[in-house]
Amino acid sequence: VFVAFEGADGSGKSTQASLLAEHLRSRGLGPVTVTREPGGTEAGRAMRSVLLDGEGVAARSEALLFAADRAHHVAALVGPALERGEVVITDRYIDSSLSYQAAGRELPRDEIAQLSRWATEGLVPHLTIVLDIDPQTAAARTASRGEQNHLDSADIEFRRRVRESFLDLAAKEPSRYIVIDADRTAAQIAADVHAAVDRLLST
Ligand code: C5P
Repeated sequence: VFVAFEGADGSGKSTQASLLAEHLRSRGLGPVTVTREPGGTEAGRAMRSVLLDGEGVAARSEALLFAADRAHHVAALVGPALERGEVVITDRYIDSSLSYQAAGRELPRDEIAQLSRWATEGLVPHLTIVLDIDPQTAAARTASRGEQNHLDSADIEFRRRVRESFLDLAAKEPSRYIVIDADRTAAQIAADVHAAVDRLLST
């Protein structure tokens, strides 16, 4: 079973991914793999550092690097774990590219979708959990871990487009998505996440 978390920086994805893994392990569901994009693999960590540590890369280069990271992530880690019958939980997947590179950086959406399909050979999560949060609230949270606090109007516009994109993706495919209000405590969010995944596993 393949579950993806999506949402803004500061929406609590990585915390919720670990809490979900603990929950599933405590239910005796066997090995659970928690991973992330970009940087879930060794090659991916090299790509992550090109993407995030150095000078900003051009939008198309960025899109290709996220796709390259994802292609290797699926081939080397996610796919094999799913074949072993494990639950795989990823912090970000295709919807991040559709939301940041297409909606955010305004690259053609159909091309990003096609690139993502090609990179993953069409592997789609059984459930995508969108942790929804207002851009200002999210920025206040990431500021506490040393990231950008002040958002100018271009940042806010960008983050609004990203948020709307996640919500649109969820609205188009309600059977494969759940949107959870992430402006609450980790425990409250986790309760909703665990209920959704328990429902998925019982079907
Ligand atoms: O979620 P994480 O903190 O690992 O993401 C790293 C950064 O990369 C974030 O700032 C996120 O906004 C950005 N990102 C992106 N496009 C993606 C995935 C992540 O711009 N497809």
